Amino acid sequence: MILAVTGGRDTGPGDAVRVRGSAGASVSLCKRCGTDTPRYKSRACVPCARAASSARNKIWRRTPKGVIVAARYRAKWVARPGNKELHKKLTAAWGATTEGTARRLFTRARRRARDGALPFSISLDDIRAKVIAGICEVSGLPFVIGQPGHIYTPSIDQIRAGEGYTQQNTRVVLWGINVACHTWGLEAITEIFRSVP
Ligand SMILES: [Zn+2]
Repeated sequence: MILAVTGGRDTGPGDAVRVRGSAGASVSLCKRCGTDTPRYKSRACVPCARAASSARNKIWRRTPKGVIVAARYRAKWVARPGNKELHKKLTAAWGATTEGTARRLFTRARRRARDGALPFSISLDDIRAKVIAGICEVSGLPFVIGQPGHIYTPSIDQIRAGEGYTQQNTRVVLWGINVACHTWGLEAITEIFRSVP
């Protein structure tokens, strides 16, 4: 009995639209992105199907049951030998990237806004652009990224403390400047430093 003919069953003449690729993937247009990436029987290509699946998973992990199951998986993963150290290493490496830094700044500001019931209307794109630009908006000094606790670490500052994280009231400055300004504001601090001989 002949099991396979060279090229497979979908590669005969006049069958150019659907071609059997490796691992059973067929080539035709993806219903989501429209490119002719190899795809399986579903309507979306592999990258699109993966993106959709991870989006569904993300939503599920926020449901009451999903939270419990995800925490259990995480605990199991951390309990395996060496993974605690690995997690620390991965987190540090992520924090050392501009993307990781921007996202951490953004989510922490959002949490502070939520905790303090402050307005919050900045977007991740704004913060990312400013972190990538790499320059403190007050001093013009370059940021230092990937060294936790460094005085030149970028940080999100409310120009007027307590008025929230809006486009007009927010700037990305050196952490040192942010700490020095506290709730007194830049003017008060500048006045003090001008008086230092
Ligand atoms: Zn696609």
